Amino acid sequence: MKLILLGPPGAGKGTQAKMLTERFRIPQISTGDILRGAVKEGTPMGVKAKSYMDAGGLVPDEVVVGIVRERLQKDDCATGFILDGFPRTVGQADALKGTLQDLDKDLDAVLALEVDAEALVERLTGRRTCRECGQGFHVKFDPPAEEGKCDSCGGDLIQRDDDQESTIRKRLHVYDEQTAPLIAYYGEGGLLTCIDGMQEIGSVQEKLLSALQAS
Ligand code: ADP
Ligand code: AMP
Repeated sequence: MKLILLGPPGAGKGTQAKMLTERFRIPQISTGDILRGAVKEGTPMGVKAKSYMDAGGLVPDEVVVGIVRERLQKDDCATGFILDGFPRTVGQADALKGTLQDLDKDLDAVLALEVDAEALVERLTGRRTCRECGQGFHVKFDPPAEEGKCDSCGGDLIQRDDDQESTIRKRLHVYDEQTAPLIAYYGEGGLLTCIDGMQEIGSVQEKLLSALQAS
């Protein structure tokens, strides 16, 4: 199963990808997670990416395209993968097409999660992430058993720097300008299914699974 999860920041891509990786035993490839890891480690790529991320903009295409190209060649992607947060521009989508051709792989599906702008802001301002294992929560929609602590590993839950409302608005604008055109891009290829992402997490999961069965 080789798929792309499309959708604006806060649509639930990461939440759904985690569930799909467990079900299909294929890796989640989140460019956001990889970039945050590089920022944390202070690698040259992380240093370059940080200013774009802090400002709510996109990291240049050549950086993320290189990350994904390298990642897709790892052994664990042999039977499939879930791309979460990539591609985000038409340039990235074109580069992905080339990479997949080179690797002799075909996409099975592109699933786009649709969520209203105000709901996205509420989801992102309430998002919390485990500092240790990266598991995601929401203070209202997916709260941990103990406030501020991760259910899986007991680590502290933190708020991402870019989940402040002013940066969120900028990220949503960038999505509309640069990423939303990918809906038409993949629509033309016949691989796209749009999913109503406004329902609770479990219902969205069911819709994704039915779309995958149909694809
Ligand atoms: P993305 O990866 O698309 O940016 P996330 O999966 O991190 O989005 O979800 C953003 C926030 O919204 C998280 O706090 C998550 O717990 C919450 N969330 C995800 N899906 C839903 C949903 N269907 N309903 C309500 N909250 C959700
Ligand atoms: P995410 O975790 O997907 O919300 O991504 C967090 C931030 O990382 C984004 O706001 C961008 O600055 C950067 N980023 C993640 N994926 C990409 C991508 N495919 N292209 C450019 N920038 C990205």
